[in-house]
Parts: sequence; C-alpha cells; structure tokens
Amino acid sequence: MKNLKLTLSALIVLALLSGLFVKSRIGQKEYTQQEFLFDTLCTITTYSKSDSEAVNMAFNQATQLHRLADFFDTASDVSKINNAKSNTPISVDSNIINMLALSQEICQKSKGAFDITIAPLSRLWQFDSEGSVPPDKDQINYALTLVNGDGLIVDTKAMTVTKKSDGISIDLGGIAKGYAADKSAEILKNSGVRSALIDFGGNIVTLGENPKTDSKKWRIGLQTPYAPTGEYSKIIDTCGENAVVTSGTYQRYFEHNGVKYHHIIDPKTGYPAKQSFDSVTVVAPNAALADCLATAIFVIGENMGKRLAAEYGAEVYFLP
Ligand code: AMP
Ligand code: MG
Repeated sequence: MKNLKLTLSALIVLALLSGLFVKSRIGQKEYTQQEFLFDTLCTITTYSKSDSEAVNMAFNQATQLHRLADFFDTASDVSKINNAKSNTPISVDSNIINMLALSQEICQKSKGAFDITIAPLSRLWQFDSEGSVPPDKDQINYALTLVNGDGLIVDTKAMTVTKKSDGISIDLGGIAKGYAADKSAEILKNSGVRSALIDFGGNIVTLGENPKTDSKKWRIGLQTPYAPTGEYSKIIDTCGENAVVTSGTYQRYFEHNGVKYHHIIDPKTGYPAKQSFDSVTVVAPNAALADCLATAIFVIGENMGKRLAAEYGAEVYFLP
C-alpha cells in the first residue's frame, strides 16, 4: 500500500508541475489539461488554436466512460451487469458493448489470458486497498470457478449483455483507459485539432505531427520499471495516429513479506502473472486494442505474445 500511496503522491506532484508547465507554454499554443480518471492521471496536450473547448469535450466523454465502467459505482453499467441475474438481458451503453465485443475477441485470441470476467479475482486481491495481503488459496480457488470467458452473451444489435450464470462479474480495467484515449482522439480530431498527445495512465495516443521535433515525430519514452518517473529504457518514434500502451507490474502492486504482488492476474492460476520482464509495451493503430493486447501479452509471455501482436500487425517491447 505504501507503494500505491507513493505513486499517488508522485502523480499529484506531476499534476502540479504540469500545471506550471502549461502556463509557461501558452505562448507556444501548447495546451495541457489533466484529470484523475480510471484511477490514474489522464493528460491531454494539444498544439493549435482554441483547443481548450475540444479538450473539455474529450474529458467530458472520458468522465462519462469512467462512470459507465466504474467497478465501484453501483450506478455504473459494469455494476448493472455484475449485479444482474443469469439469463436476463441487460441494456447497456454502446461504448460498453464495444468494449465487451473487443474483450471477447482478445479473450479468444489469447486463449483466455485476457479475460474481463477476472473480476471475482481482482476484487479478492484488492490492489487498491490499504494494507493488502495475498488472499487465501481457498478463496482464490473459489473465485477461479467464477471466471468464465465464455460466460457473457453480447448482443451488439440489441445492445444487451446476458450472463450465463449469476456469479459472473466483469472488470474493464484492462481495456477502459485505452478505449477512452481513442474516444478522446476521435473528439479532438472531429473538433479540428491536428496535433495532440493523449496519455491516460500509460495509454498513449498520438494525433498528427509533433510540432516540437524537427522530424515531426512523437518521441514516446518507455518508463524503466521501478526507476524514478521519467527515466526511460527506450524511446519510440511515431507519427500520425498511433497508440503506444504499456502494462507493467510497477503500475499497481503491493508488497507482503518481501514479495511483490502486481495487478495483472493470470486467469488460469488466479495469481499475478509470473514473467521475467516487468513491462510490456504494444504499438498499434488504436489504444483499445493495444490496451487489451498489452495485458494479454503480459500473461502469455514473450513467445506467444509476439505471435499475438503480429496477428494484429502490432509491435511489442518487453522491459526487465
Ligand atoms: P492494464 O492496466 O491494462 O495492464 O490492466 C490491468 C488491469 O486489468 C487490472 O488492474 C485489472 O483491473 C484488470 N486485469 C487484471 N488481469 C487481467 C486479465 N488477465 N485480463 C483482463 N483484465 C485483467
Ligand atoms: Mg490493458
């Protein structure tokens, strides 16, 4: 929990610093706004005239998506699904339907490594709570019986979701930030913004050219796991509309008796996925896809992960 607190403090300091940064850059028509959504710091920076209105619209949409996908808000669509009885179609927002449909596809392609029905396990692990300890083996074994990637019927025409059994519940933590970053990019684009950088907690979408580099490319640093924020192991140069999404053990974890327990769960074991690397970065045309892939690839590892990324024409990078 100490680590989570440290991370939050670091984020707040970062937010304050960026506020100052914005002021000093206004003359250069750079506009930055930050909000705390999806349990993480979300930043949008744009580089042309009258962008604040467009950025506000993007954040309004992101806030709405946050509310729909909020696991802890009893009024959210996710809670509506989680509290529903089996064999009862539940009407949900089209954005939730889109996330569910993509999640099901990646679940299938990753042979169950990416599975939003992980919720009984993520609820048990409580990575967000004070003084977390690993759950009992019995609790994990029981939660595992509730995880079922085939347990939802998603009707994209009627916009309903039907659970095949009462105990199924979903957690969109592995896709919602990426999906929201894409939606923000869409709103900015439709509002005439030509250059922008969107970063929703490591889910980055670039739009247009970077006016601040000679090459006009965006330079995205891949954070060195567990190093101070802003220390990078690799730089990715991208241009145009592209997504760079990272899933890492250092983003959310707790320590107990000297062992680190991180937030990406292997749906086969019920425990945090064990790998020799600490982060996976996926570069793909959109962030919803890259978000699912990064989480999935963290679970399946390097060899299978490279094959899965290739199926989608995505690039993948692993950092120790
Ligand atoms: P990300 O932040 O995209 O790496 O995804 C991690 C988040 O997704 C966790 O905090 C959980 O909310 C959820 N999650 C954990 N393990 C999985 C998994 N195997 N499949 C889908 N979602 C997961
Ligand atoms: Mg993800």
